[in-house]
Amino acid sequence: MLDKKNFYIDGKWIKPTKSSDFEVINPSNEEPFAVISLGSKDDTDKAVKVAKEAFVKWKETSKEERINLLEKLLKVYKKRFNEIASVMSMEMGAPIDYAISTHAASGQSHLEDFILRLKNFKFGESFDLKSNNYISYEPIGVCGLITPWNWPINQIALKVIPALSTGCTMILKPSEIAPISAMLFAEMIDEAGFPSGVFNLVNGDGAGVGTNISAHPNIDMISFTGSTRAGKLISKNAADTIKRVCLELGGKGGNIVFADSYPNAVRDGIRNVMSNSGQSCDAPTRMLVEKSIYARAVKEATDEANKIKVDLASKKGDHIGPVVSKVQYDKIINLIKSGIKEGATLAAGGPELPNGLKKGYFIRPTIFTDVSNNMGIAKKEIFGPVLSIIPFETEEEAIAITNDTEYGLGNYLQTEDVKKAKRVAKKLRSGCVYINGNSAASGTPFGGYRQSGNGREGGTWGLEEYLEVKTITGWK
Ligand code: NAD
Repeated sequence: MLDKKNFYIDGKWIKPTKSSDFEVINPSNEEPFAVISLGSKDDTDKAVKVAKEAFVKWKETSKEERINLLEKLLKVYKKRFNEIASVMSMEMGAPIDYAISTHAASGQSHLEDFILRLKNFKFGESFDLKSNNYISYEPIGVCGLITPWNWPINQIALKVIPALSTGCTMILKPSEIAPISAMLFAEMIDEAGFPSGVFNLVNGDGAGVGTNISAHPNIDMISFTGSTRAGKLISKNAADTIKRVCLELGGKGGNIVFADSYPNAVRDGIRNVMSNSGQSCDAPTRMLVEKSIYARAVKEATDEANKIKVDLASKKGDHIGPVVSKVQYDKIINLIKSGIKEGATLAAGGPELPNGLKKGYFIRPTIFTDVSNNMGIAKKEIFGPVLSIIPFETEEEAIAITNDTEYGLGNYLQTEDVKKAKRVAKKLRSGCVYINGNSAASGTPFGGYRQSGNGREGGTWGLEEYLEVKTITGWK
């Protein structure tokens, strides 16, 4: 059992003020493999105090000094790349090859991209040639960063790197369900030589450290990724201190498959939703299929779902792993049962354990057909390997169904008609629209409309989240 009970505060690994052990479970075998501590208000206060003190000097560092340290961090990250992949595989169940090629790789690519953006970022500029006004971009201050378990290092990198880049100091509270990769990342920051107090890590749960951070008077900004439920609570807890609150929340993405889509569009849609065991905020979990190809699409979707293997995260190869925890497992199984009760047709998968697996939080890739958009399975974020297929007749209807959700994170559309693709993409109410399986390039902004949040992470937009904008007159 790994002993990971200490917190990283002021450049040192220190004991928590009170002992409160919490076991980290490997979802492939339901066994604990590490123990962390859940922090208290005293631990949060300690970390915030040193972050506030460190801000005084850190905000004055030059862009070049910060780039130099980030480049050192990138070297350390590359050196420990396989270590971070295997830790994530164990703590949240990503199959090891996927953890290497996608999870660990995302951390590296965000680091590389932010270094590039920072090199080109201007922290001050004249307002226009005629005025003597100057616009200065300044770090917002001490940041509270709260992250989820589903893409652990991806989410941490999207917050910690821009906060460091802009001259902010911070306290990170990773998910208590998958905190070990975050602790390894803290070791990397230490090894890279960032000044003490700039980056701090306190483990804890949402009700404890999460709430302490949200309400803290000396924290200037919260950046949160997680459920819409917690996003609402954080906003309420932060309100009294009027801190900036950037939220990256849940989703219920639509994937419109028109009759003139490319040949593999349905199968690619299935692979996309099932990857990471369906635990992605922008997963295309509602597949809208044009009626004229509905029967063929259902056949292909069912066939593709049945081909996806489910197995231990430690095994190499192309399969999906377990979902993260007993809580998530129970929630997903209940939603699958509710879909059956609501009258949707279960075309693949279902609530039973996959063949050959007796232990672990494994769920069969599940497809519901003949779903209507007002069923619970089409409305709620299931966050597991479950897809609903919904028929449509016209372009207008497809757009209306896709937008008929309280979320607005990632939507997808498939058609070989370029004009139609652009027309529909503009009408979808979401922060990202992916046409014909094209992925977003590094440095593009990621975030949601409506109850999917209000922030944008990545690239220049991701840096701007951590900056105050100041107008100064009489500059010449
Ligand atoms: P969660 O909301 O339960 O927890 C996320 C983090 O918030 C954890 O660190 C948790 O301890 C903390 N937390 C929980 N309640 C809190 C509270 N009241 N105050 C402060 N902190 C609190 O979410 P999860 O189950 O870890 O992650 C899955 C969710 O994250 C899904 O809804 C998914 O869509 C969302 N997500 C969104 C994005 C995005 O960029 N929009 C990316 C990944 C995941």
